[in-house]
Amino acid sequence: GCPGRLPELKGNIRVLCRLRPGTPSSLVSVEPGPGGTVTTCYRGRHRRFRLDWVFPPDASQEEVFRELEPAVLSCLRGYSVCIFTYGQTGTGKTYSMEGPPDDPGIAPRALQSLFREMGAGRPHRVTLSMVEIYNEAVRDLLAPGPPERLAVRQGPEGQGGIQVAGLTHWDVPNLETLHQMLRLGRSNRATAATAMNQRSSRSHALVTLTLRAASPPRAPSTAGTLHLVDLAGSERARKAGEAGPPRGDPDGARRLREAQTINRSLLALGGVMAALRAHRPHVPFRDSQLTRLLQPALGPGTTAVLLLQVGAGAAQALPTRARPSAPLARR
Ligand code: ADP
Ligand code: MG
Repeated sequence: GCPGRLPELKGNIRVLCRLRPGTPSSLVSVEPGPGGTVTTCYRGRHRRFRLDWVFPPDASQEEVFRELEPAVLSCLRGYSVCIFTYGQTGTGKTYSMEGPPDDPGIAPRALQSLFREMGAGRPHRVTLSMVEIYNEAVRDLLAPGPPERLAVRQGPEGQGGIQVAGLTHWDVPNLETLHQMLRLGRSNRATAATAMNQRSSRSHALVTLTLRAASPPRAPSTAGTLHLVDLAGSERARKAGEAGPPRGDPDGARRLREAQTINRSLLALGGVMAALRAHRPHVPFRDSQLTRLLQPALGPGTTAVLLLQVGAGAAQALPTRARPSAPLARR
């Protein structure tokens, strides 16, 4: 492909950044493009981050997807790809990942692109699973009954896998069924009000597609995997008014716990990515349910793309306080 474009397919982690429209340039300014920079100003302190790619505020959904499409399509050649949206609540994570119906984001575009490619080439068997991680509890968003907490276990030795006991995997015959199932899963996702955002999402949502090429009998079939992860807001507990359970707030204790566990898995993700980027021998996958689940998708020979969402109308939405972003983005 073109220089600077995805994917370089060896244990590759790329950090992209998208600036939300309407962000005052006194708070965040960008130098867009490949190798672009983001400069943030928080309490008069300027910090500059260099990223693999920076999308300016007026970047379209299509422009964002264009940078991701080669990685997405590599799943049809057996690769494992993970795409995350990361950032504080209100910075546009869900907008980028899902998008409004009239301006679809990464997930619907990825599915369309994959099905278009399969229609033109080799047929694949497509299976879908969808989970939510909320307070370190993993729940199946596509379970036929009420979502129950699932146990995450290490798979058989040598297979390197993680098993989520009881997780449903659905065969998806076509794009329309896929969209229907994603809508169902999304409507099952837990949301709660915080001081920061009335319906801010306090959970991580993981959509996993497995694409297995139809192969001749007895030939080993390789499966590619695409994980699309809409992470919970990366704000610090006290930023969201959660320094402690406010007196007279019966919900305070629960929300404090939410904020702490969200931070735990985001910190763990930051730790895993930093270790992978630095080629450290020990990668702390076991530190959270999120990183345990994604371990097979973040090992050697995989591609991970982190879309760092930045900005909004208020200083509280700046990324400078989101600790995990520093080791990820600064080089
Ligand atoms: P998050 O998921 O990070 O909490 P959202 O995706 O819900 O944030 O975005 C917050 C608000 O900003 C929503 O109203 C969304 O429609 C809007 N928004 C975010 N990014 C964009 C964008 N690139 N263009 C237009 N509106 C956006
Ligand atoms: Mg969201």
